[in-house]
Amino acid sequence: MERITAAAESELWFTERMAGTGFQYSLQVAEVLHAEVTPFQRLEVFRTTGFGTAMVLDGFVNVSDKDEFFYHEVMAHPALFIHARPRRVLIIGGGDCGVLREVLRHGDIDHVDMVEIDERVVRVAERFFPALTASNSDPRAAIRFEDGVAWVRDAADASYDVIIVDSTDPVGPAEGLFGAAFYADCHRILTDGGLVVVQSESPLFHQGRLAEIHRCLRGAGFADSHPMTYPTVIYGGGTWSSSIARKGRRLGDGVRWDDIDNRPFTTRYYDRGIHTGLMSLPGYLAPVLSGL
Ligand code: SAM
Repeated sequence: MERITAAAESELWFTERMAGTGFQYSLQVAEVLHAEVTPFQRLEVFRTTGFGTAMVLDGFVNVSDKDEFFYHEVMAHPALFIHARPRRVLIIGGGDCGVLREVLRHGDIDHVDMVEIDERVVRVAERFFPALTASNSDPRAAIRFEDGVAWVRDAADASYDVIIVDSTDPVGPAEGLFGAAFYADCHRILTDGGLVVVQSESPLFHQGRLAEIHRCLRGAGFADSHPMTYPTVIYGGGTWSSSIARKGRRLGDGVRWDDIDNRPFTTRYYDRGIHTGLMSLPGYLAPVLSGL
């Protein structure tokens, strides 16, 4: 039997428990770097021993240095390489700024609005996650501190080519970002052939939610929708999903394969092969999405 040393007993661990799943996981914390309660949520930043710096919102890890690239690359690049000429992009949420960084790697983009409800998340990210927030001063980016539901409701028809909904889980202020009315507004404010990408929870634990998201996307008028699954460690269960939908065209129409191959920036996960894999439906999800 292994002897528990005094050092081990004094170790600090953060545990995230996924309600109703019988699953939890822990990160070893070397130092609590920041903790506050904002007007919207509890915001903590830890220096961990295995995952670099991690940001936790209301008890759920939102981002870690070690595995942020899986999520941020999938949220940004498939949609931007499917669209023929993406010029105007809207990011809803995304306060850690990792999606903004990936979007701005595309030189053809003229303008990005990032609409984050909680200014504190952006300010704390700027302090503790310099690699994620390095593009915040890009003149093409406008970071706005407003409710994304209201922003989309008030936006003009056909005003964006791509919308990326990088939200927290569907509770509190993020709840409205998962509703039918919100998706209908996203459809209305997209240009023809435009795409929306939404954070769509665990494909293993939240299958009802995933099916509901796709029902709402199709109900809002999107011609095609598809769940993209990929590895993450810090979102419970080791695999996560983002869902992509397109207005007026199929997702496979006109993919800019040559531009994917010749992209003038480095990715750590996304490439032609990953794009192909993201667009194929794993067998275990077929029954979840059948009959939409
Ligand atoms: N990738 C992360 C995840 O899945 O956990 C989410 C990252 S990002 C930090 C999520 C952001 O969505 C948070 O900063 C939160 O403040 C923001 N948010 C939640 N509801 C919102 C709303 N209604 N409008 C705009 N931003 C919102």
